[in-house]
Amino acid sequence: MKWINHQIVTGFIVCTATNDALFTASAIVGAVLPDRVEGSPPKDNSAYWKWRKKHRTWSHYPLIYLALIGAAQLAKEYYPEPTLDFALNLITYALIGALLHIAEDGICGKVPIFTPHKKYGIKLFKVGSWQEYFFAVLIIAICLFAGFGDINLLRSYLNL
Ligand SMILES: [Zn+2]
Repeated sequence: MKWINHQIVTGFIVCTATNDALFTASAIVGAVLPDRVEGSPPKDNSAYWKWRKKHRTWSHYPLIYLALIGAAQLAKEYYPEPTLDFALNLITYALIGALLHIAEDGICGKVPIFTPHKKYGIKLFKVGSWQEYFFAVLIIAICLFAGFGDINLLRSYLNL
């Protein structure tokens, strides 16, 4: 998925779930984190293949992000302090953004789940295809409906 779609889809999901602008902003930053830590692909041929081999392994390994979320939550328990609490919450949402990134990569390619080097995925669409944009719009529509929609109105409209 393109970075812009990672950010839009992740942003809408977190905004709908939390209704919090700062948490949403944090998640949008985190939404490109797993790709950012890999750096850009090197131009040099042999360096490129080395980079390619590691691509989407450790950087896209969900357990690392889950462990960091756990650590942030644990730190909150041990050092109850409002400013730290707030900062750790922002970090947690950035990490949740990263987890959503990995899930989003998992539906247009392959990502590790149990071990860093064995990857799984369902290829719903190709990166940059119109289906990807359709998927992004669909998620936006679902989030908007979850946020503002009225199920009874929809039911009466569809005669259900
Ligand atoms: Zn990625």
